[in-house]
Amino acid sequence: MEIVRRAHSMREISRQARAAGKRIGFVPTMGALHEGHLSLIRRVKAVSDVVVVSVFVNPTQFGPGEDFDRYPRDLARDADKCIGEGVNWLFAPEPEEIYPPGACTFVEVAELSARLEGASRPGHFRGVTTVVLKLLETVRPQTVAFGQKDAQQAIIVQRMVRDLVLDVEVLVLPIVRDKDKLALSSRNVNLSREERLAASAVPRALAAAEEVIASGERDPEAVAQRVRGVLEAEPLLRVDYVALVDTARLQPVPTLDGEVLLAVAVWAGRTRLIDNTVVRV
Ligand code: AMP
Repeated sequence: MEIVRRAHSMREISRQARAAGKRIGFVPTMGALHEGHLSLIRRVKAVSDVVVVSVFVNPTQFGPGEDFDRYPRDLARDADKCIGEGVNWLFAPEPEEIYPPGACTFVEVAELSARLEGASRPGHFRGVTTVVLKLLETVRPQTVAFGQKDAQQAIIVQRMVRDLVLDVEVLVLPIVRDKDKLALSSRNVNLSREERLAASAVPRALAAAEEVIASGERDPEAVAQRVRGVLEAEPLLRVDYVALVDTARLQPVPTLDGEVLLAVAVWAGRTRLIDNTVVRV
């Protein structure tokens, strides 16, 4: 496996791979790879001839005072994991490769970007869609994979690909969870032992919601209350939001009907955790 540092090198590698008739599969990440990332790599590998993984902690998707500086970084370990999965190229550019000095051009998916995570983290999705577009343009994959873990991100990226008529297939793959069902996240390493224990209330809250819905509850407010109840029983967690929205526009639903995204965000100390489940009523 080759570690590629320069955008122009990555572009040339992709050009040659395409010219040789190879299908390129791509998994964009911010590194600190875990089994969630590896599940994406495995799936993409199964449908591609060659696989590119990017590791880029994208500055533009972090707001002022967010954890850009504290975000875990370990390229050597990430490279080992990628080698273990048979990845062909690990694209790990410096920020200047992706953002030339003075770069002031952004791509933004209107409306969807302002909801849920976007309301709590203004500008976050503008950074995400801008970097994803740049990475897609550099790597030129036929297939790119995202995780359902970041449900809103997956919806927004799919929307960008559709709206900009990009020639790439987007796969959205299931959430990989730890033994206690906490969704794997690079940020979990920043949790103290106590916070990590408390965090297991997040998947328990989602499961509690699924139970009340299965037993007939159709009032989104009642379901949200149930979720909050489980989360607020943990003194180490602080709820940011609990939302039940439709999966097309991310608007609150008046009643549970069809496909509904239940998304939660909590703080455990200084670490922000998100999780979700899609319920089909
Ligand atoms: P990140 O490095 O956190 O930006 O994530 C890179 C990609 O991996 C995104 O598409 C995430 O949705 C996906 N991902 C992160 N955690 C998980 C997980 N636990 N299960 C599945 N996919 C994940």
